Amino acid sequence: MVVVMQEGAGEEQIQNVIDRLVQMGFDVHRSTGSTHTVLGAVGGASVDHRDIELLDGVREVVKISASYKLASRAFKPDGSIVKIGQPGRQIEIGGHNVVMMAGPCTVESAEQVEAIAGVLHDCRIRVIRGGAFKPRTSPYSFQGMGEDGLKVLRKTADKYHLIVISEVMNQTQIPMFLEYVDVLQVGARNMQNFDLLKELAKVRRPVLLKRGPSATIEEWLLSAEYIMSGGNHDVMLCERGIRTFENYTRNTLDISAIPVIKKLSHLPILVDPSHGTGRRDKVAPMARAAVAAGADGLLIEVHHAPETALCDGAQSLYPAQFRELMSQLNIIAPAVQRAMM
Ligand code: PEP
Ligand code: MN
Repeated sequence: MVVVMQEGAGEEQIQNVIDRLVQMGFDVHRSTGSTHTVLGAVGGASVDHRDIELLDGVREVVKISASYKLASRAFKPDGSIVKIGQPGRQIEIGGHNVVMMAGPCTVESAEQVEAIAGVLHDCRIRVIRGGAFKPRTSPYSFQGMGEDGLKVLRKTADKYHLIVISEVMNQTQIPMFLEYVDVLQVGARNMQNFDLLKELAKVRRPVLLKRGPSATIEEWLLSAEYIMSGGNHDVMLCERGIRTFENYTRNTLDISAIPVIKKLSHLPILVDPSHGTGRRDKVAPMARAAVAAGADGLLIEVHHAPETALCDGAQSLYPAQFRELMSQLNIIAPAVQRAMM
């Protein structure tokens, strides 16, 4: 870190800061300018920079190295590829292909999943999404089919050779999910459920970590770090919109998070324009933007009859809209040296 002293800071104050930094194990390099003294502190333990900022005579402390290590681009400059699916039908996320993951918000019945899986199959989609345990804002809303929903998803996915992603809400559900699901989704509301993250670190199954509605990118990467530092390096990030003062859309989809993550981290990044906008007519434009901006994949809600959906019908695409979107993305992806899958 770099410690900038206040203009006119006294020699005693400067020496006090140096002594504290040395005590904390840092090597200190002093640069004395005509107005400011700047101290470069290298090595040392991880410290709360506010403890330094509060010392007499300090103007500001600038952190140089990221607080996340395993998730940082420096750890793996070439970028990570995460393989998802059972051996023999695996696909790669973070490679040349931009991978579409689509399906209903919620698993409602075998007939519903069958109808939607048929659409995905026609469009050569390889990954089906669908929640069986739903994090609903209201306790009176449909909470999902539970394990029966996971069974339906798995059965239909196997029929169509699809890979399954579904949201795990807490750590006690993990063993059950491992029976049915290829990718464990951590929902936005659970991004900082550290007990869940620590348990996901112990499994050997890819995790899709959604960004919390009010999480900074650094907090998001630190949540990824929880999973990685416990031993599970198969982490993918998913931008799904953050809470801002704008309330026309359900959330504000932060497209700029894509190039920012690409710079800061080696982890693949996907985008969910369904929850990111909350309105069906806004989903395709944002999906197109995400692919153009370099996303490694998309997570999109599609329903064969959205007006009857038990959850998020308003943001679910009709099959015809989904087909149209895929044909547009097939044009956009090659323009950024990628291909849709
Ligand atoms: C979902 O993908 O079904 C979901 C609940 O999304 P989020 O966690 O982003 O709200
Ligand atoms: Mn939803």
